[in-house]
Amino acid sequence: MKKERTRRQRAILRRNLFLAACTVVLVLLILLIVEVIRWIGGEKAGEKPQDTGSVTSADVTPEQPVADTRPQFVTRGNHTLDATYTELMIVNAKNPLPDDYSIESELVEIDPKYRNNNNVYRIHKNVYPYIQAMVEAAQNDGVDLKVWSPYRSRSVQQTLFQNQVNRQLANGVPADQAEEKAATIVARPGTSEHETGLAADFNRADDAFEKTPMYAWMQEHAADYGFIMRYTREKQPITGVIHESWHYRFVGIYTAQEIKASGLCLEEFVAQKK
Ligand SMILES: [Zn+2]
Repeated sequence: MKKERTRRQRAILRRNLFLAACTVVLVLLILLIVEVIRWIGGEKAGEKPQDTGSVTSADVTPEQPVADTRPQFVTRGNHTLDATYTELMIVNAKNPLPDDYSIESELVEIDPKYRNNNNVYRIHKNVYPYIQAMVEAAQNDGVDLKVWSPYRSRSVQQTLFQNQVNRQLANGVPADQAEEKAATIVARPGTSEHETGLAADFNRADDAFEKTPMYAWMQEHAADYGFIMRYTREKQPITGVIHESWHYRFVGIYTAQEIKASGLCLEEFVAQKK
């Protein structure tokens, strides 16, 4: 009788152990399946890092911006350039530079092989590699792109402005309007991008530039080196400056490409970013 009870107890114990083992195996199996599904999902997402086409605005909350998968550094000829480096400083008639503004210590001399002017020849040191890469690339394409007028000191800008005022007076523009007219052509001292070392005129600073292969090349490639054509006819009401086919401003590679694609001028682009 006692033996019979012990035997039954052992049978119950074995069954319970068997059930417990089954439960553990089942749980492990479920965990394994979940892991495999997650792994496959991760593999698929990793396969196409650029494919964000399936991401709808409902999927992306402002707290979780889509990661920027563009590389930080890009190769341009012999140069490795930081494509994320950005310069959005606005300098115009409404946003003059402070009177004590000085960038002298940040300037470097542009090698003569990149320029065709010996009077002004310095540029912001951070911008120089982009200028070098761009001029070299144009030269390799058989286009004789050269830097004409990069950085200008306040006093050089003052001289250029006064020369333009004198030209307006000589053309018969009344004395009380000459400065205003001149300012649409040459920026008043303190309001020129040239004083920042971030902008440059190329080859020749007149409308003839627009008819050259250098202009055509710049239209196609300048953004890939971080430069935008800063002053266009249609944006004159915003920039306050006439159409200047020769004046390019460094803003950074990805930023220049964005601005070019947007069709905005720098003032509009910066306002939109805020
Ligand atoms: Zn200029």
